[in-house]
Amino acid sequence: MKILRVALDLPLDTLFDYLDGGNSQLKVGQRVLVPFGKRQVIGIILARTALSDVADSKLKPIIQGFGDEPPLPAATLQLLKFCADYYQYPLGQALLSALPSRLREGKAAQLPKVTAYQLSAQARSAGLDAIPARAKLQRSLYQALAHTEPLDAAALAAVSSGWRNGIKQLMQQGWVETVATEHVLPPHTHQAISSPALNPDQQRAVDAMLAEAQAFKVWLLYGITGSGKTEVYMRLLQEVLSRPDTQALVLVPEINLTPQLEARFRARFPHLPMVMLHSQMNESERLHGWLRAQSGEARIIIGTRLSVFTPIKHLALMVVDEEHDASYKQQDGMRYSARDIAIVRAKSAGVPVVLGSATPSLESWHNAQSGRYGLLEMNNRAVLGAALPQIGTVDVRQLPPQEALHPQLIAAMRQRLERGEQSLLFINRRGYAPVLLCSACAWVAPCTRCSSRLVVHLRDKRLRCHHCGHEQRMPLQCPSCGNPDLRPAGQGTQRLEELLAEQFPTARILRVDRDSMRRKHAIAAMTKSVHAQEVDILVGTQMLAKGHDFPHLTLVGVIDTDSALFSPDYRAAEKLFAQLMQVSGRAGRAGKAGQVLIQTAFPDHVLFHALQQHDYAEFADTLLAERQLANFPPYCFEALLRAEATHYQAVREFFHAAMAASATISHHLAVYDPVRPRMERLKGMERAQLLVQAGARPALQKFLRAWVPLLRSLPQASKVRWSVDVDPLDY
Ligand SMILES: [Zn+2]
Ligand SMILES: [Zn+2]
Repeated sequence: MKILRVALDLPLDTLFDYLDGGNSQLKVGQRVLVPFGKRQVIGIILARTALSDVADSKLKPIIQGFGDEPPLPAATLQLLKFCADYYQYPLGQALLSALPSRLREGKAAQLPKVTAYQLSAQARSAGLDAIPARAKLQRSLYQALAHTEPLDAAALAAVSSGWRNGIKQLMQQGWVETVATEHVLPPHTHQAISSPALNPDQQRAVDAMLAEAQAFKVWLLYGITGSGKTEVYMRLLQEVLSRPDTQALVLVPEINLTPQLEARFRARFPHLPMVMLHSQMNESERLHGWLRAQSGEARIIIGTRLSVFTPIKHLALMVVDEEHDASYKQQDGMRYSARDIAIVRAKSAGVPVVLGSATPSLESWHNAQSGRYGLLEMNNRAVLGAALPQIGTVDVRQLPPQEALHPQLIAAMRQRLERGEQSLLFINRRGYAPVLLCSACAWVAPCTRCSSRLVVHLRDKRLRCHHCGHEQRMPLQCPSCGNPDLRPAGQGTQRLEELLAEQFPTARILRVDRDSMRRKHAIAAMTKSVHAQEVDILVGTQMLAKGHDFPHLTLVGVIDTDSALFSPDYRAAEKLFAQLMQVSGRAGRAGKAGQVLIQTAFPDHVLFHALQQHDYAEFADTLLAERQLANFPPYCFEALLRAEATHYQAVREFFHAAMAASATISHHLAVYDPVRPRMERLKGMERAQLLVQAGARPALQKFLRAWVPLLRSLPQASKVRWSVDVDPLDY
């Protein structure tokens, strides 16, 4: 069995055989460095075999094996094999892309040594009593080190911010010494914040889940904003992690991974090693978190989408917070849904998975209604006396087109200013204005690379495409008719900020969007100043919609939502409802009643009625009935074939061949004609897509297994960039 079958990071559905070169200890799941053409690449061993299809004389030996490293667990390999098959993605690429990039590059899977501090033998034998009672800092440091050692700087800083002085004195006395270590534990002495009493809703949810905590089950925790879902997660973790060596994985959308959330978990579980895994970390931090999860050292793993593939030694519980969030779906490479993969993973590990949301995806809602998932509802706000915000619409039809803000909204803001409370204006468009318009001929500045318009960024006098990043100077006159009177039309965050400054000259206004929050720590600084009541009015995009909890914020105004009401995308209503619900949740949390005012030209729309009643369930049932009638997901299963090229001709030819290939397969599903998406042209590429719809998942999978290999072998396929998206969210 000297032949290793290796998966490589290549867009091919094959494995490659190599001789083990005498490295008989190498195991399945371990990495190897192998020659491939003129390159050297990292691969993962998937099998050992005695026979190869390639003649022995042509087999090459590996260059290097990483035999002393822990192999990827069989469960991880199995999960990624499932994904490669389900999402029609080459296995080698699926496997390698799940690794931290350091491992893909061939770096060692090794934890770094850090400097830590421990008590000397002398200190241990002398005991705490040898330190004078007045040396309080030294005594508390001694106590911390006596419980768990060694401790690193971060752990000691948790004991006291002035720890460096105390440690210096202890070292001078020969009581503390430094040591280089890979494993640093949090101090046991740091007092855990005791868990608050649960309200009846929370208690019921926790009890129900704990009763079945040791087996696979999907729970949908449907709790309104402010109902205390995080507390439920933490209580479950507390119970499940009280079993020795168990680990829990908590998935959160990228935007929700705030320092507050991390701090909240750390304060509750100071005694449990915790790692974070997300895209803001540098590569070595990510590798170290990954290794600690794999080794079993990290008991709590909190991460975004990609962390769903992290090997975890003793997985006992998974949580997917805000399960409806679109950021769980990967939009390039292997287009997986981390939520769906979490369920697959929980099933094979035999552990429960909790999906939490105030506005569950229709898929999950449907599964809960049909009894496939356990449904737990929390309809009350957790903080006593915190009422639900009052949601209303203001009709903008009577508003003159130049007026961005309705007098009713302005009056409500003025009232907040007088009471010393905060307001938030939510507008989902950054920049100054969405378009630059010629007053004479109605020319609009287009992006030359996309079928979109350029957004006006007045401050730096530039036009930017928010789709491809293209930017240019603002023209001095209309390129079409020569008219010098070009006007920004419509509202963006910057223009709204300007308008508010005119309307409320003494108010302190803060804009929160991707442009103003670009600097590191900008979000943390923003949060701090809002909490310190240094801000009266916040103007922001969806960055502000989630996660933040501002007790003095009592008014939320929503500008410009109407485009989503009549979108051709049938998911738009679901997304808009979730977003408005989430924004509404920002208003009035700590005993102060909140108010939400939505500016719309369609105040009678069914969506606003449901929103005013805070009735997600009714709205979801309405949408589900519509979907059933139209035969849309979750009542059917879909895959989308996308292709793009610089010239549309190549795209057309590819789809023509793809359709012909589908006709050679016997199937019982609908293969629709290719169509152009809303953004026909993006980043200089002409695009089209083709939808496949099936009544059942297995039928779709069977068809894709036959069809995708045919697509790969099409000569037309090499002239376009194409991809298959199973369970697509965007069309
Ligand atoms: Zn013009
Ligand atoms: Zn563009």
